[in-house]
Amino acid sequence: MGWETIIKSLRDPIVPNLLDYTQAQAAFSWKQARRELEGLPCGAGINIAHEAVDRHATGPLRNHLAMRWLGKSGRIENYTFAELQTLTNRFANVLRSLDVAKGDRVYVLAGRIPELYVTAFGTLKNRSVLCPLFSAFGPEPIRARMALGQAKVLITTESLYQRKVSKLRPALPSLKHVLLIGDEEQRTCAPGTMDLHRLMEDASKQFTIEPTDPEDVALLHFTSGTTGTPKGAVHVHEAVVAHHITGKLALDFHSNDIFWCTADPGWVTGTSYGIIAPLTNGITSIVDEGEFDAERWYAILQDQKVSVWYTAPTAIRMMMKVGAQLAHKYHLSALRFLASVGEPLNPEAVVWGQETFGRPFHDNWWQTETGGIMIANYAAMDVRPGSMGRPVPGIEAAIVRKTEEGKVEIIEQPDTQGELALRAGWPSMFRNYWNEPERYKKCFAGGFYLTGDIAKRDKDGYFWFVGRKDDVIKSSGHLIGPFEVESTLMEHQAVAEAGVIGKPDPVAMEVVKAFVSLKDGYTVSEALRRELLAFARVRLGPVVAPKEIEFRPKLPRTRSGKIMRRLLKAEELGLPTGDTSTLEDG
Ligand code: AMP
Repeated sequence: MGWETIIKSLRDPIVPNLLDYTQAQAAFSWKQARRELEGLPCGAGINIAHEAVDRHATGPLRNHLAMRWLGKSGRIENYTFAELQTLTNRFANVLRSLDVAKGDRVYVLAGRIPELYVTAFGTLKNRSVLCPLFSAFGPEPIRARMALGQAKVLITTESLYQRKVSKLRPALPSLKHVLLIGDEEQRTCAPGTMDLHRLMEDASKQFTIEPTDPEDVALLHFTSGTTGTPKGAVHVHEAVVAHHITGKLALDFHSNDIFWCTADPGWVTGTSYGIIAPLTNGITSIVDEGEFDAERWYAILQDQKVSVWYTAPTAIRMMMKVGAQLAHKYHLSALRFLASVGEPLNPEAVVWGQETFGRPFHDNWWQTETGGIMIANYAAMDVRPGSMGRPVPGIEAAIVRKTEEGKVEIIEQPDTQGELALRAGWPSMFRNYWNEPERYKKCFAGGFYLTGDIAKRDKDGYFWFVGRKDDVIKSSGHLIGPFEVESTLMEHQAVAEAGVIGKPDPVAMEVVKAFVSLKDGYTVSEALRRELLAFARVRLGPVVAPKEIEFRPKLPRTRSGKIMRRLLKAEELGLPTGDTSTLEDG
């Protein structure tokens, strides 16, 4: 042990799981990581829900607190591993009684309420495919994702159903069952829906998970690309090996930790680390139903004695805006590890963490397709503010460029920009895009998965994010496809063309901005601008809809007819517009 480590362990009595990075990288094997999990009895494969719930429910952690739910209104509910086992068994039996089989897609559209977590694991126990949707989506993103994945079951609340789904039913012929969850009092059970609580009461609390092949599909997570429909990243049960081990190595989970992941399960972080990883590691997970509010968040950190906190840069920046004085009113001594993901974490935010909490934020990087953390700053290593960190043991990351012949070439020269690529083959790597094998294949070359992110590697092996290769937008940590927004705007009778970009924003990183040209017969007006904003918001939901609309007589297009978002963005930023030779009128 070096001096630095000794000093750190005197200050910090908990010894980090990953102490020596080089040694951990060299010694790591996925086979060994797999041994940390139990597997189904009698060698019947591996199932995420068994590793997260049943394994602990039948062992010494049976009565350990698995999940503490904090309701918006102040109500608190506690669930031990044993209680979660009973509830998830009941739900798996409900699915079975409804003839929902292995591989059928079960969608969950709900806020962060306990039933979401119960139905997630129950679905996995039944070997059906879990597809969580973000509850702030409007009807259009919901329809698109349910139609693409041919949802058989939807679990949602009465209010979300009435507001966002009921009118979509004719467009979703594969949808057989809608099961309602949430507050009893509001339940009227609209036609074509069932009360899940009733079904659960009648269901047995015994359930045996059938043999599950590690390659059986477990999760379907939709993500956005520059063009076309959303992409359904397919993940398998084997992914749990990566969820588990990255919780341990990158988030430094220890047995007495109280962990709070602030991400919504509608996005991949909220599933891999908001649902699965803390429980496979047998620790207590805090689930907060409320939306961001600095005072509420500090109170949660204090009252729940959160020791490991995983959040996102937008939230950190919002806390920074409120100021450190507020933080100092709270006792946050339980906090020992802070991590962040989803967008670039500016160096000031890392430093602010150190000043405010006495600990820096540890940035880490991954994406829907990777299923789990791939690059991270670790507890035992000094954080390099602004860097995403170093690859998780077992992951080979490289900066690559494509040659003219289409081959992938690794860029060895440090500090040189290129595409971030990962050697294919880790357990939580996506196995396909749902029904789009060609789109999937295009992501791989020369044995690497090409991430679509531009980054640099420094001489010490730390990775630095530079930007996206494509036009997708990151707003408050949510990945938004410009095409989805443009298509919706085009549905308005006044719109001839729409081009959508991410406009830089000091807090949300980017906000969605649309450029619109109108059809003949329509004139630009403030009233029409407001009408279009409202039109998009109702259909897409507040997270995806544009915050700004600018009218243009005509939008720039390439000779092949594509709207040049790149040019719109350069103009917005006041940057040189570069080579416009492919412009129609260039
Ligand atoms: P998603 O698939 O929605 O999780 O979004 C993944 C994308 O978010 C990545 O491809 C990056 O562009 C961005 N991202 C995630 N984590 C980081 C990070 N630590 N720093 C910079 N960008 C990030």
